Amino acid sequence: MKQGYDGSEEGGGPHRSLNFRRALMLGAAILIVRSIIVLYLEDQEQQRVIVDDIIFPVVNGLAALSLFRAARATRSQDERMYIAWAFFAVAQVLYALGDVLWSILEIGLKETPFPSIADGPYLSYYLLFLIGILLLPAPYQSTFERLKSLLDTGVVTIFAILIFWSFLIAPTVATLEESDPLANAIAVAYPVADLVLAFALIALIFRKIEHIAQRPIMLLAAGAIFLIVADSIFMIKALRGVYVPATLGDSFWLISYILAGLAGVLQVESAGVPVRASADRPSPGFTWPLYLPYVCAIFAYAFLIWSMEHEDVNLYIRQHHLAAGVGMIILLIVIRQVIAIKENTMLYAAAQHELHQRIASEREKEHLIKELEARTSEMERFIYTVSHDLRSPLITVSGFLGFLRDDIEKGAWDKVRKDLDIIESSITKMDRLLQDTLELSRIGRMMNPPEDVPFYDIVREALEQTSERIRSRGVSVSVAEDMPVVHVDRMRAVEALVNLIENSAKYMGDQSDPRIEIGCMRDGETVFYVRDNGIGIDPKNHQRIFELFYKVDNRTEGTGAGLAIVKRIIEVHGGRIWIESELGKGCTVFFTLPLSEKT
Ligand code: ADP
Repeated sequence: MKQGYDGSEEGGGPHRSLNFRRALMLGAAILIVRSIIVLYLEDQEQQRVIVDDIIFPVVNGLAALSLFRAARATRSQDERMYIAWAFFAVAQVLYALGDVLWSILEIGLKETPFPSIADGPYLSYYLLFLIGILLLPAPYQSTFERLKSLLDTGVVTIFAILIFWSFLIAPTVATLEESDPLANAIAVAYPVADLVLAFALIALIFRKIEHIAQRPIMLLAAGAIFLIVADSIFMIKALRGVYVPATLGDSFWLISYILAGLAGVLQVESAGVPVRASADRPSPGFTWPLYLPYVCAIFAYAFLIWSMEHEDVNLYIRQHHLAAGVGMIILLIVIRQVIAIKENTMLYAAAQHELHQRIASEREKEHLIKELEARTSEMERFIYTVSHDLRSPLITVSGFLGFLRDDIEKGAWDKVRKDLDIIESSITKMDRLLQDTLELSRIGRMMNPPEDVPFYDIVREALEQTSERIRSRGVSVSVAEDMPVVHVDRMRAVEALVNLIENSAKYMGDQSDPRIEIGCMRDGETVFYVRDNGIGIDPKNHQRIFELFYKVDNRTEGTGAGLAIVKRIIEVHGGRIWIESELGKGCTVFFTLPLSEKT
């Protein structure tokens, strides 16, 4: 093992597992050599005792050294981890000290080493080990998890108490003689100390062992298990008066010390390796501690039943104590289940909530995508229309430029003037198309903040702007009076109304009594309308007239952008627009607008 402690190899990459393997081999060698010696000295108890009195303190001392090195290596890594390992190291030193005192008493002074001064350090070991375990850094746990861990620990601890009491503590108490109280206390202290050690292991298991217990702690725990087994075998044999010192059975003690030493070596090697963050990687394989409380409950119950059917066997535990223990276990398990149910309900509710939120946001996303798709195809159509309609005046211009050249060469000045007129009007048309396109694109971007305006005021303003055309066509206009207050961009609303009124006046045909009626209907929803008794629109064109630059009759004046602009204005306000009309029977344009919240 000396080589394993070579400081120069500390943290060295390629030598890492070499140290551990060497230590392991040394441990195995010690175990084998001792076994051979013990077997060889089968009939010589005296000699065997001397051999053990030498081997045990030495191995224990080495283990303590190893644990100290482990503590030192852990120092820079984690404060709590370091303190825990320091406790393990001091505990092991005390145990080694106990061994040394024992050996001095037994082979040096030829005195009975039990009870003796050696028991002090021995017994301290168990307590320090427990403190070390409790000091190990605990991973984060929710309140529910902590409660469950606590209850699980409680169940297994009660079970351990029942077992230790029945088989070790109570039988020891039964053998005590009244003469020496100190000796009695020490005698009882050992099985109790083993129970403390068992509790340390239980605590380790339920403090989410998989997070804190890397392999070094596992080895340390294994060592503690061997110590409990060795102590128990010793005590049971001693109680029955069949214990023979320094036999193969005592190997368990030796194994326990070797495991402690190996744990130290492993810790030194792994100290340089960063500890994996527990949240990163849940270890689903490590679930057996979850079942442990139930296994204990079953065994405790079986034990109770067995004791009831074997009343003749002297059990050292009263049946009603056993029953009380089992009752406690059941109670704790019930509480644990209630907590688990509560936790599950909450987790389920949280999961449901999240699921609903996801579905909602998914729907919203789908909705947005559809909207986006609609917008995109609308935009494509728009671009197509604009470029198509802008081309036709351009083609006219370029065509007539050709004629113009010819006519100039021929000196046909009359024609030249006509060509120029046509070119000019084409350019004017193109300019109007461009202006309308610009106007349409501006609507969404350039909105004034919406305000509360009585719809009547909007109509009045629009009528003022169109008074010229209304008068010249001799149209009579009637406006309803009880119209609501709307919440709109005033300028845009007026713009829409102007377009509608102009259209009505424009498409009167040869109506001898031209009339325009502006009003609103309140049928659940408030719908405004502009109605005329003009030429009307064939139902097959009802959709198309809202398209940009669409005109039913190309000879009429206007670009065909008016209703597209109106529709856009209504839609940016969140409203809808449609028409009711038949050819020759007038036309009514209906639309909705947001109403003022105050009305
Ligand atoms: P423009 O009036 O510039 O031609 P609009 O987009 O305003 O363009 O109208 C598109 C077409 O719808 C018009 O060309 C016209 O044929 C038809 N229209 C619009 N309003 C009316 C109406 N009140 N009565 C009859 N037809 C109409």
